[in-house]
This record gives sequence, structure tokens and C-alpha cells, in this order.
Amino acid sequence: MKLPERFEQRMRERLQGEYPAFLASYQGAPYRGLRVNSLKISSAEFAARAPFPLKERVAWEPNAFYIEAEKPGADPYHFAGLYYLQEPSAMCAAPLLEVKKGERVLDLCAAPGGKATQLAADMGGTGVLVANEIDYDRMRILEENLVRMGVRNAIVTWRPPEKLAEVFPAYFDKILVDAPCSGEGMFKKEENALSEWSEENVRRCAVRQKGILDAAAGMLAGGGTLVYSTCTFAEEEDEWQVEAFLARHPEFTLRTMKKLYPHTAKGEGHFAAVLQKEDGPRSARPVLRKFTPGGGKGGYHVDSPGAGKAWKAFSEDFFARPLEGTLRNEGTRLSLAGEDLPLADFRNAVGFRVGLEVGEWDRKLFRPAHALAMAVKREDVRRFVSLSREESDRYLRGETVESDLPDGWCVVGVEEFPLGLGKIVGGVVKNHLPKHLRKFGP
Ligand code: SAM
Repeated sequence: MKLPERFEQRMRERLQGEYPAFLASYQGAPYRGLRVNSLKISSAEFAARAPFPLKERVAWEPNAFYIEAEKPGADPYHFAGLYYLQEPSAMCAAPLLEVKKGERVLDLCAAPGGKATQLAADMGGTGVLVANEIDYDRMRILEENLVRMGVRNAIVTWRPPEKLAEVFPAYFDKILVDAPCSGEGMFKKEENALSEWSEENVRRCAVRQKGILDAAAGMLAGGGTLVYSTCTFAEEEDEWQVEAFLARHPEFTLRTMKKLYPHTAKGEGHFAAVLQKEDGPRSARPVLRKFTPGGGKGGYHVDSPGAGKAWKAFSEDFFARPLEGTLRNEGTRLSLAGEDLPLADFRNAVGFRVGLEVGEWDRKLFRPAHALAMAVKREDVRRFVSLSREESDRYLRGETVESDLPDGWCVVGVEEFPLGLGKIVGGVVKNHLPKHLRKFGP
């Protein structure tokens, strides 16, 4: 691999005697990792039935392993959200936040969702996770990953950080800023990171990061914790960025800083700093725009009676034990959220998705959502069509499968893990896996 000359020079100056070891690390294949989704399965259980060899555990994330498998993303367990494929050193930042059950957590730069799904697993379905991404297409991928991993307590937003800061002053207990960066730790994995590298770009990134960090500072409640991370080695974006932040924000202190280099840790490289905010106010609720309820396409109806009835009728037939939460509908989309989610008006004010999307109701017909299937357990539903790993490929390709269960909506799964929805009619399970999620190729 040909590294940019100026990059090499900068790294040589920084690492001095360690530089040859750093350079040699570019010879090997990139480290690859798999993080087990504890919302669906424990890491011990997964290890016992893993479809490909797992190597040693990742030292800084108790649910993760190194892997060398071919196409681990094509396995039915991956479609079922049992694991997330993530570069090992990138797993070091989220645990530093030490999220506790019931907290309000913000992941400000969240797509595609590696760290957001890691935080969601640590939160164990309690509290509120706001996962924000500025880029629309990337936000949709983030949403898909949260759905696949069965996350119910997330609000997905799509806002520039300074706009989000108007809604959430002093609101969050924990914030992760996994900033867009020059990606020096991504050279082996992403060609773009290598071809787009320049000292000028390092400086541009540093300016952008400064704005993002300042917005994050205002959203953190008194006594809260902010973790700032990048996948680059440049001081302008790492240590110096943190130093300048502390000078601008005397209400913060630095608890710890961590820098993983590919020659000192088993990963491609990451930087993380833990910043503590002094005690101060914690907002009771976000500042939401006034919204005129009622009527029309895109209108917002809180607990509209028709939607409520449709959901109840569906639930009675579908669930063996009812799903808890408050139902909201916005336009035709219905969502369910626990009491922890400050739901009212949220979607219109900031959110793209709030809580668990359960279905669509067009005033005549209720259609359950894929997200609903991904967030339940086998024992939650009356009709669960369990397929072997081999059979599940047929479902994932969009084909029908067979079942002798009674007619009606069902969850189709690989073994006991949901893959999506189906509708049983006379022994045939019609495939309702969204087309864009179907499996193509081997
Ligand atoms: N945390 C993610 C994960 O673990 O999967 C990776 C985040 S990536 C390093 C940085 C993200 O920040 C990108 O998705 C990028 O689109 C987004 N971003 C770019 N400019 C931004 C800005 N000005 N404010 C907030 N996010 C931004």
C-alpha cells in the first residue's frame, strides 16, 4: 500500500522509534470484528452456536470477537440481528460512556450505527437513545441497523448538530461524538480514506469537529459525560481538539484519553477522550416546536381512536403476550414507545422515527411493520414459523415457505430468532420481508 508521503512524515515525527512497527502493521490484513447483540442473545450462547469460527475476544468490548470468516454478512444470523460487524478498535469508544439503565443518551454522528447499536445493547431497552445522522441516505441505513438489532427505545433524527442543540439544551446524561474525520485508521479498509487524505483535509475536519463538539457541550446535562472519538491519528483532530475544547469549555474536565494504534493494539486505530461536565441543570423535557394536531396527510393524531382499535384487533390475534407502550400515529405510520420516550410531537419536531414502528393504518387496513417482527421474541407471538438455517435462505430470498399453523400474520425466524413477517394462508406463508432487505447472490 502506498501511503501519502506527508502522512508518513507526520507519523514518523509523532511515533519516532515506534514508526517502523507502525509502518509494518500495513502489511497484514485488516482486523475484523463481530459484536454479539446482547438484546437478542448472550455472547456465550452465540459462541456455542456460531456458524463460523470465532477467534479471541476483543479486550475492550465483552461481547465481541475477532473473526476471519468469509461473508459473515450473508449469514441468516446476521439478518436476524444476532451480531453487528464492526472494526474492533471502533468498539472501544461506546463502553467508555458507561451507560446505565434508564439514561438519556445521544449518539450525535451515528450512521451506519455501529456504536449506536452498541449503546442500545448496553442500555438493555431502557431509557432513550437519540441516534442522529446529518446525511439522509446514511440515516436510513442507521435506521435499518437499529431495526435489524431489535432496538425499541431509539429516536432517529436527521439534523445538523447546532439545530438539534436548540431542541435538547442540557438534556442528555451521556453523549457520544464519533466525529467525521480524516480516517487515517481506515486506510486498509476504505480506499477513499487513503485517496482523499491531505493535510488540508485534516484541518477542514478539525474545524467541523469543533462545531459539532460545541453543539454537543450544550446538549449535555450537568454532571453528564461526553465521549469524543475519531478513527484518525492526527493531533489536530484528536489531542489538540480536546485541548482546545477544554479551553473553550471550562465546565468540562478530561477524565481519560485513549489512542489505539495498529502496532500497539489489535485494531486499525481509534482515538477516544472522556470529558466530564460539572454539576448543573438537567432539562426535564426537550424544547419542541408547537404543532397543530389533526387531519390530512402527514397530520399528527395522538391516540386516534381508529388507529387504536385497529392496533388492538391486530394485537389480540398476533401476540401471545401484549407488547407494552403508548401508541401514536403520524399520518399512516403507527409507533409504540415506552414511558421513557418523550414521544408527543417528537417525530414532527425532530424525529424521523420514534420508538418502535409497529405498522401502517390507512383508516381501513392495518399492515404490521418489519420493525415489529425484529423486536419481538418467539414466545411473544402466537404464530412463529421456525426455519432451519438452510430453509431460512428461501425466506431471505423472498420465496414462500410452508407452515401448518392457522391462517394469519406470523413471524418467520431462523430457529428462534425473527427474520421478518409472513402471512399464512392455507399452509403457505406469503413472504413479507421488505424487498430491499432480501438476499441476493450466494
Ligand atoms: N458512529 C458511527 C458508527 O459507529 O457506525 C460512525 C460515524 S462516522 C465516523 C461520522 C458520521 O458523521 C458520518 O456518518 C457523517 O455523515 C456524519 N457527519 C458528517 N458531517 C457531520 C456534521 N457536520 N455533523 C454531524 N455529523 C456529521
